[in-house]
Amino acid sequence: MKLYPKNFSTAVHNCNLSGISLSRYFLDIEIVLNETTEDEILRQMEKNLSVMEKAAAKGIAGVTSFSGLTGGDAKRLAAFRATGSPFGDSLYLEAMIQSLAVNEVNAAMGVICATPTAGSSGVLPGALLTMRDKLNLDRRAQLNFLITAGGTGALIGNQASISGAEGGCQAEVGSASAMTAAALVEAAGGSPSQSAHALAIALKNLLGLSCDPVASLVEVPCIKRNAVGVVNAIAAAEMALAGIESRIPVDEVIQAMGSIGRMMPMALRETALGGLAQTPTACRMTAMLQQEGHIPWPFPAAGRNED
Ligand code: SF4
Repeated sequence: MKLYPKNFSTAVHNCNLSGISLSRYFLDIEIVLNETTEDEILRQMEKNLSVMEKAAAKGIAGVTSFSGLTGGDAKRLAAFRATGSPFGDSLYLEAMIQSLAVNEVNAAMGVICATPTAGSSGVLPGALLTMRDKLNLDRRAQLNFLITAGGTGALIGNQASISGAEGGCQAEVGSASAMTAAALVEAAGGSPSQSAHALAIALKNLLGLSCDPVASLVEVPCIKRNAVGVVNAIAAAEMALAGIESRIPVDEVIQAMGSIGRMMPMALRETALGGLAQTPTACRMTAMLQQEGHIPWPFPAAGRNED
């Protein structure tokens, strides 16, 4: 990872100096880093995109998770949209459907592409599969979207974290939303600097988000958080494209996320010992899943939430 700059501002600076896009910049780094060719990287990205497309289609058709806790919400939201939401139709609604669909497939043990993690895998495809028609993105532009998001994720991971166990959900859904916002800006014709502002705005909005999955399963609250993550990403990209800037510079936002993650108690970092995972309802669900044999490992006793 030494070829990656130490922070996002340096990436923006280098792009501006060379007059290239973030996707071109990250692609060049990956070619050298992996001692590979542009064609090979694009082939891999094509495979990733194809996984996302299949997962979204499967999720919209309807899936149920192995535990039975989740599933069918993408289908439900698509039906709701078809009959006419009282708030009208919108790209935000479509993005939520796609996002829920992909993450429901993850909970159902289907194949997804981690962006950056499985728990946050619905955010990026939610935006890309929704916006590609709106923005007239050809296949190469869609692969560029993945490259920009991937490079952005690498820079977030290098400075903070992309792991819920390390930094809470702000590091997973927060990072996914920030990566997506940065890539959306480029796809819409914005500058690297605007991508940086979109990244910062998106991440700021999700700072402090705990990782508190019920029964340690990546289902509740993860799936619905993906839908919110994609809406947040689009909102941040729109603000940045309109010229709105983050008053806190992008790398300081990323570092703040890392700092908050380090301050988070272990109970809120994927252990299911706090937050939503220890609510009375979550404890009842956990006990039921244990009785039904859906949780094959010894699980912490219920009722530890002292909030
Ligand atoms: S709550 Fe935890 S497991 Fe679920 S998506 Fe967020 S970080 Fe991942």
